[in-house]
Order: sequence, then structure tokens, then C-alpha cells
Amino acid sequence: MSADNWLVCPQCDDNKEAEENRMVNLLRKDYGKISAENYEERQREVKAFLREELEETLREDYDYQLDPATETLGVYYKCHCSVCSFGFEVHEDIDYLPLVNK
Ligand SMILES: [Zn+2]
Repeated sequence: MSADNWLVCPQCDDNKEAEENRMVNLLRKDYGKISAENYEERQREVKAFLREELEETLREDYDYQLDPATETLGVYYKCHCSVCSFGFEVHEDIDYLPLVNK
């Protein structure tokens, strides 16, 4: 593998957004039903969670190379998240001969 890169994982990003919505909705539901002190404490927790930035836990590895022996461009891509295990892998050999002008 010739290159690697780290990104925010799209699955972790989606999971955090769902958790944010769950926390905000729960807080709205409890408005007026819990003590003002308890409400404000939970509001601070929600705000702190909303401010949290996700770490770059998605590792990408990729490689591409022309192979004159098989007349193809080999393209390989793989990513994997170290937190939620999201990931996938793609490998394709593209025939480049039709692109060559004769
Ligand atoms: Zn993830």
C-alpha cells in the first residue's frame, strides 16, 4: 500500500448526529417535568456533547498503478474505522487499451 490518510468516519458522524438528536429531544420532553437545576445540568451536558469534535478514526489506504503487462490500471482502495468497524474495500483493474489513440 503506497498511501494512507485519516478522516472523520461517516458512520461515526451519523451515529453522533443521531445521539445529538436523541439527547436534544429527551431534554425538550423533560422541560417543565424536572427541576430547573436538573434541567440546566442536562442542558450543559448536551451543549458539551454538541461541541465535541469527532476524531479522525477512518484510515484510508489506496494504491494505483499502470501495468503494461496486463494493459490495465490497477486501482485499490480500502478504509476502516478503528471505533465502529465501518469500512469497505474496492479493487478494480481498468482496461486502458481502448483509451490509447492509434
Ligand atoms: Zn466509525
